[in-house]
Amino acid sequence: MGRFLILVVALFVLIWLLRGALSGRKRGRPESPEARSELVQCAHCGVHLPRMEARSAGGRHFCSEEHRRLGARED
Ligand SMILES: [Zn+2]
Repeated sequence: MGRFLILVVALFVLIWLLRGALSGRKRGRPESPEARSELVQCAHCGVHLPRMEARSAGGRHFCSEEHRRLGARED
């Protein structure tokens, strides 16, 4: 009976770990309708564009790969 209990606990832990891994993967890609239609501003040239089309780096958004490379304009 003891062995059976250990098996059940091991199975429970395995399921719990798998669920944690799956939910962790989901959290990495937030794709709510609000996030898709939300407008963000390019940190370099200031143009507004949908978040889905923006490139992000360091918590900032950029309109193109070129502006992401150039970085935020400091003025
Ligand atoms: Zn830009």
